[in-house]
Amino acid sequence: MFIVLGICMVGVAVFLNVSWVILNWRRLMPMLIGIPFFLLLIAGVVLNTIFLVREVRRNERHDSFINAVTHELKTPITSIRLYLETLERRELSEEKRREFYEIMLNDSDRLLATVEQVLKAGEVGQRTRKTVRTPVDMREIVSEAMYRIRTLHHLTDENLSFEQPPQGEPVMVRGDQEELRTVVMNLLNNAVKYSPKGVEIKVSLSLEGDAWVILSVTDKGIGIPAAHLKRIFNRFYRVPALNVLRTKGTGLGLFLVRTIARQHGGDAYAASPGEGKGATVTVQLPRMLASKDASHAMQEAV
Ligand code: ADP
Repeated sequence: MFIVLGICMVGVAVFLNVSWVILNWRRLMPMLIGIPFFLLLIAGVVLNTIFLVREVRRNERHDSFINAVTHELKTPITSIRLYLETLERRELSEEKRREFYEIMLNDSDRLLATVEQVLKAGEVGQRTRKTVRTPVDMREIVSEAMYRIRTLHHLTDENLSFEQPPQGEPVMVRGDQEELRTVVMNLLNNAVKYSPKGVEIKVSLSLEGDAWVILSVTDKGIGIPAAHLKRIFNRFYRVPALNVLRTKGTGLGLFLVRTIARQHGGDAYAASPGEGKGATVTVQLPRMLASKDASHAMQEAV
């Protein structure tokens, strides 16, 4: 509606201005003053329309974020409550009890993950926050995250493969270990989450000379339409497709990934051959070389 209204207003303004110019073309002075004013008027209407449309989109994203987060918080709480009530009211076998405890633990993990993600998204946006930068071995961070994902989703080596530079080649970056862990976990979680028909993920860690450490996670899932490849890194953005909206999520994961990568001097981007053909999300981070590390350590000591 706002776009149509904006286009109509621009149309009317252009029509009125052109007809005024035609009617007054013999009078030089009003023409010289009028034309710039009219151009300004049209530019104002166009800018106003763009601003309005952006605001409307932002509001829509906020609404869907609130809905998603509420759902993400409510579902595990309801589930935990239900199991607790059953445990309280009924006599259950030891085996059943253990099963219930496990489900409740998983639910509370899910709850914690959502809360942490929301808190983290607020935190990384703050300009004045302090981070602890230390040498981080990306090989270790990725292997650890892969182990966690494998256990969490009961995956095998066939589901999740890892390509890395030859052993002995250091794959180090200077950064915040916890944040880099968040980056890798988010990429892996998404690759599993958006592969509803079977998980086949390739994780690749490589080096681009002395400059960059490149981490790519490729899956064979639902893919990402070309028009959304950049927007998925925006806060709260989720591709508006049914198969995505049916999957749980808050639209904060990739926002965190890109913000953290950029704050470390790197970046993040996505590629996909099309819908249903899988996706690759890549993060590049500045490589830390051993010599730089030594000089940095010396500087810190001084
Ligand atoms: P969430 O997964 O919580 O919705 P993210 O910020 O992690 O939020 O991702 C944003 C959107 O990007 C997702 O909603 C989804 O549409 C898309 N997306 C992210 N990773 C993938 C992937 N591996 N395959 C397909 N789509 C993806």
